[in-house]
Amino acid sequence: MISYNPENVFAKILEGEIPTNKVYESDYILAFRDISPIAKEHILVIPKSNYVNFDEFITKAPNEEIIEYFRTIGNITRELDLDKTGYRIISNIGQDGNQTVMHFHVHIIGGEFLGNLDFSK
Ligand code: 5GP
Repeated sequence: MISYNPENVFAKILEGEIPTNKVYESDYILAFRDISPIAKEHILVIPKSNYVNFDEFITKAPNEEIIEYFRTIGNITRELDLDKTGYRIISNIGQDGNQTVMHFHVHIIGGEFLGNLDFSK
């Protein structure tokens, strides 16, 4: 497991060094619009605590934080009416998952038909 690098871009967003288009914020969670959206709706949901990826989050985070995190993802999708038409949630993990920002996050993608998963390299 690689260790958390506090210089990653989401850490800078949490520090307020990089502005974002915020969708939701609580004591534990921040959600904001992806800078390079791949669909009409593309939201990133991150815990404010430092976890490198899903594996570290699901093994180390307290149960209450995990529950709030995933419930919040659901709440955001309903707030955006994505539950009515469908959507996709994705977390890229590590090298083979092509994770580019090493602070755990889930992508919420929707607002239009998404087709098949694109495995292009
Ligand atoms: P990953 O590839 O790690 O699963 O996803 C990282 C995501 O972060 C990418 O979709 C990328 O567009 C997004 N991203 C990278 N830098 C920034 C930034 O400065 N602001 C925002 N809002 N999104 C970013």
